[in-house]
Amino acid sequence: MVTQVPLLDVNAQNLPLKKDLTAAFERVLESGRFIGGAEVEALEREAARLLDVAHAVSLSSGTDALLAALVALGIGPGDEVLVPTFTFFATAGCVARLGATPVFVDVCPVCFNLDADRAAEKLTDKTKAIIPVHLFGQAADMDSIMDLAEDHDLRVLEDCAQAIGAKYRGKTCGAIGHCGALSFFPSKNLGGFGDAGLFVTNDPDLAREVTHLRNHGMDPKYYHSKIGGNFRCDALQAAMLRVKLPLTEQYSRLRQENAEYYTRQMWDHPLIQPASPENCCCPINAGHDDEEDKRGIILPVAYPHNVHVWNQYTLRVLGEGRRDALKAHLTERGIGCEIYYPLPLDQQECFANLPEFARDHTPNATQLAREVLSIPIYPELTREQKDAVIDGIFAFYEDAVGD
Ligand SMILES: *Cc1c(COP(=O)(O)O)cnc(C)c1O
Repeated sequence: MVTQVPLLDVNAQNLPLKKDLTAAFERVLESGRFIGGAEVEALEREAARLLDVAHAVSLSSGTDALLAALVALGIGPGDEVLVPTFTFFATAGCVARLGATPVFVDVCPVCFNLDADRAAEKLTDKTKAIIPVHLFGQAADMDSIMDLAEDHDLRVLEDCAQAIGAKYRGKTCGAIGHCGALSFFPSKNLGGFGDAGLFVTNDPDLAREVTHLRNHGMDPKYYHSKIGGNFRCDALQAAMLRVKLPLTEQYSRLRQENAEYYTRQMWDHPLIQPASPENCCCPINAGHDDEEDKRGIILPVAYPHNVHVWNQYTLRVLGEGRRDALKAHLTERGIGCEIYYPLPLDQQECFANLPEFARDHTPNATQLAREVLSIPIYPELTREQKDAVIDGIFAFYEDAVGD
């Protein structure tokens, strides 16, 4: 019997909660109140407490949270916004939709996040904001990013879509900068039942502005002082998310345990090694500088000053064509895996008409796009499933020995 390991198993998480989820659904059904109301307000209160922020505003998606945040920060035509080039599309798409220019910054090959030094090289007098993404669940180098922002008067919007509850030097990600955007897309650490998102901030004016924008910039009824949109989170979604919200930390703990297990089991393999922190953009004093074996795998690392919530466990598979070969090999064995992301945003067709400086100097991202492969890390993985993933990877290198 082969152990099947999907990349994600939402039923393993949701079906044990069926009774409470059904009760939440029925509560909203019987209330007859589907837009706004008590469930939405309760979700926002509870999420603000969990994330240690003054204000949480629920929204229709993580993408809309980014969009509304940028509008509230005053970003518009002619402005430039620094974004990592190695992230999900929404981070940059929102900037472009507002008529502003996303300026793509290279990322660090060790922590996968935006490199503040590379960001500094792309500043112009039009740069208004920066969007650090806490990719795969680990915080970007926020001290350097905040220093850069202060020196150049930039707004800082944290993209926390993959990083709910992640911490940087004791601070919860989301309100280290001016504000943050989170996602409850089903594959995120707190996965909802459709699309939903959250805006967080300690600034009451920004919170008020986003609350206004999510309802067509309308207040009072049928009087519009701003052009917003319908960016509201459904009451049904809020009620069901409230069932899972208190479990967020437990889910992240299980993801951390899975990550530790993978790393511990794999790093004894002669061709597999953890990433070298001294090559990171983050100021880390640790470790030894191993030569990278050009045939092997580099494992992701979690820094002691961060709480990494492991939305993804992402390998770097070294060697021309090796990543695609490993992906095919694992897929063949019934092990789910995915490439996050196969093409840096600076090379996307839709951004071909951006100015050259907005798209150039991104060698690390280009390299990562050829090497990365994310393996199953969801909280409900069994020991047997994790071992099947590891065995699958080891088998690939057994076949490869002597290549
Ligand atoms: C998922 C994601 C988003 C968008 O969130 P949605 O809720 O899917 O709209 C934005 N940024 C990053 C980094 C993401 O992973």
